[in-house]
Amino acid sequence: MVGRLSVICGPMFAGKSTELLRRVRATEDRGGAAVVIKPSWDKRYESTAPEVVTHDGARRAALAATDAEEVRRVVASAAQEALIAIDEAHFFGAALVPVVLPLLEARRQLIVCGVELDHRGEPFEPFPTLLAKADEVIKLASRCARCGGPARHSQRMNESGDRIVVGGADLYEARCRDCFVPGS
Ligand SMILES: [Zn+2]
Repeated sequence: MVGRLSVICGPMFAGKSTELLRRVRATEDRGGAAVVIKPSWDKRYESTAPEVVTHDGARRAALAATDAEEVRRVVASAAQEALIAIDEAHFFGAALVPVVLPLLEARRQLIVCGVELDHRGEPFEPFPTLLAKADEVIKLASRCARCGGPARHSQRMNESGDRIVVGGADLYEARCRDCFVPGS
């Protein structure tokens, strides 16, 4: 099997994790193995153990990684043929690129999922490189919280200048290009 990279991206509330879990389950239903990895410090919707939780309430156990290097170690301990699904990849930043690209060369099957535009509306690492290298890109839209149109942006509702702020519906809205106000 040759290496394959699928990227699932889009704003908050676009159903990215739902699509990720759908693909993981399809692999497992065919008898294949899958490993789901998520950032350890994103605990928004977890109960006790690490898991990916979608906005519509689906759950699946995940392995938590503190940074891109730990993603590398987790993948190294997984079976060669296992599907590797990385959720909330923007939290790992540019450091995920030199982890993912060698895995692709090593014939691993990868799905990388996350937000590709930051709160300023700028490309969000690691997605610029991973989108360019991907075999398949699934760009999902959400519904604009203001006008109901197709939303590509994640509007942050507070003043923080930090690029990464963990939050859900308390902190973010999906917005279309017209209704989006770039953060500072
Ligand atoms: Zn709008």
